[in-house]
Amino acid sequence: MTRRRWIADTWTETTASLKGEQAAHLARVLRAQPGQVFDVVADGFLHRAEVVSATEHEVVFTLHEELEAESALPVHLLMAVFKFDHMEWGIEKATELGVARITPVIARRTEKHLAQAAAKRVERWRRIVREAAQQSRRSDVPEVDDPVMVKMALGMVSAETKLLLAETEQENSLWSELASQRVSELAGVALAIGPEGGWTAEEMGLFSENGWKHVTLGPRILRAETAAIAGLAVCGAML
Ligand code: SAH
Repeated sequence: MTRRRWIADTWTETTASLKGEQAAHLARVLRAQPGQVFDVVADGFLHRAEVVSATEHEVVFTLHEELEAESALPVHLLMAVFKFDHMEWGIEKATELGVARITPVIARRTEKHLAQAAAKRVERWRRIVREAAQQSRRSDVPEVDDPVMVKMALGMVSAETKLLLAETEQENSLWSELASQRVSELAGVALAIGPEGGWTAEEMGLFSENGWKHVTLGPRILRAETAAIAGLAVCGAML
């Protein structure tokens, strides 16, 4: 049986705590009692953990043995900022699919009011990835960077394979590009997804100059959030 998994808010070498809403949920709704055992992620490591005390403000565990945990997909997503409800759905699904890092990018065609509101929205995005990571039983929480302009984002990528998802690309597909690289050589993949209006020609040029290859997900035009999900699913299958 799989035990319910929690991501600790604070920890020491031998203990971990859940606070705030998580503690309230565990104590009040699930009625956690001392002695009960859960899986708890502390400092990025998954442990078997036993409840020592539970109030609706804090649930404290002692950490027992470390458990084996699956690792994130080595995928860094550069996601243009677009309509928040759609974008947030994409962020949640990308987390479920294993994304390691998300950099929100203010693209040329990101609507002005969204670009202005993005900096304040990032806390919400971090909450979404945290909840989605826990729900999908990940043992790590993807990093979500502060929103940045395209040029800045390009400098934040360390992945060796850099792929710009572009509906204008007719031939080179994401899967053929990944298949042509030896998996052992894949020191991470970066995927860039444009906003609702797509990347401008100028932006596409900038990506190219920085070593990004253009790839397609097929002949249909996908919404940005669909492209993010499809792109990660292909990476998950190929890596
Ligand atoms: N400019 C387009 C829409 C852009 S879709 C239009 O005609 O309205 C938003 C983003 O999703 C794109 O920037 C691209 O990154 C991604 N995308 C959509 N369809 C794609 C496809 N078939 N292949 C690769 N990427 C795609």
